[in-house]
Amino acid sequence: MARCPQCESSNVAKIAFRDYSVVYAVPFLQRKKILPKHSKIFAYACVKCGHIFGLTLEKPEKFAPFAEG
Ligand SMILES: [Zn+2]
Repeated sequence: MARCPQCESSNVAKIAFRDYSVVYAVPFLQRKKILPKHSKIFAYACVKCGHIFGLTLEKPEKFAPFAEG
């Protein structure tokens, strides 16, 4: 159960972003040629204070080639 980190209400909704629902990204530092990757993103919205938190990639493994480790 998600809880708002700002007001600690548990009255939160899981949401997807309609017009910006996909993040299209390239590595910040291009050490080798890597094609852009994309993933849908979702987040939680507190319906009490309006805070949006927990931005999360739907498929984080797609960004694995960007990872430093
Ligand atoms: Zn809140």
